Amino acid sequence: MIGGIRVYDAHTHLGAARHSGRRWSVDDMLRHMDSQHIEKSLLIPFPVVEDFRQAHDEIAAALQSAPDRFAAAACVPPFLAAGDFREEVNRCVALGFTAIKLQPQYHGLNPVSRRSDFFFETALQHRLPVIAHTGSGVPFALPSLFIAPATRYPDLRIVLGHCGGSVYYLEAIVAAGVCSNIFLELSSLMPHHIAEVLDSVPATRCMIGSDVPESAATELGKILTLNVPEAAKAHILWGTAARLFSAT
Ligand SMILES: [Zn+2]
Repeated sequence: MIGGIRVYDAHTHLGAARHSGRRWSVDDMLRHMDSQHIEKSLLIPFPVVEDFRQAHDEIAAALQSAPDRFAAAACVPPFLAAGDFREEVNRCVALGFTAIKLQPQYHGLNPVSRRSDFFFETALQHRLPVIAHTGSGVPFALPSLFIAPATRYPDLRIVLGHCGGSVYYLEAIVAAGVCSNIFLELSSLMPHHIAEVLDSVPATRCMIGSDVPESAATELGKILTLNVPEAAKAHILWGTAARLFSAT
């Protein structure tokens, strides 16, 4: 808790990253969370891993060891055979995962094409919010593209990770304006971009993420120093993510 506000990191990664060599264990993560007064974190596998089932197992073990500190998002390569894709999502749901990540930067799934319907339908079937990385990795990581599945599946909740980043955050504002089931995770934006987002998008649809632990203090500072009511900060720092990623 910081200044009486609970803190939920809605975007962080546990395990081993094949692309960067980064490795974060559950003990490292808990130590880091305690040092930053982060009460709860949504654990997501790194986008490129040696073995995605093993990455899910590691996150499931963390979830089991500290269920009040963690929630979990599955990250399943979408171009597996359809049955294998659904089977791994089912397995993650049974392990207590409450979200699914789409990584267009590495997975190349076109969210506008009807060929991507299976991904969003599987998420909807399990009532899993989709966290879509946006920003780097265009064209499939463009925030505006997620208007298509958000419109097609009005009961599906889609979180735009990184809010499009500093280059595409205006697209994220437009997408959230068009679709009330689009949410924004604000990591990596400049503070004045966040202020601009909040001029248009209710704080009840915004949340913070660190992405990597060493950015947590900076990401938290951006929200804590915003010139917005405390109630808005409470939604961004805790309420939106707590509502979205709680088990239903
Ligand atoms: Zn990330």
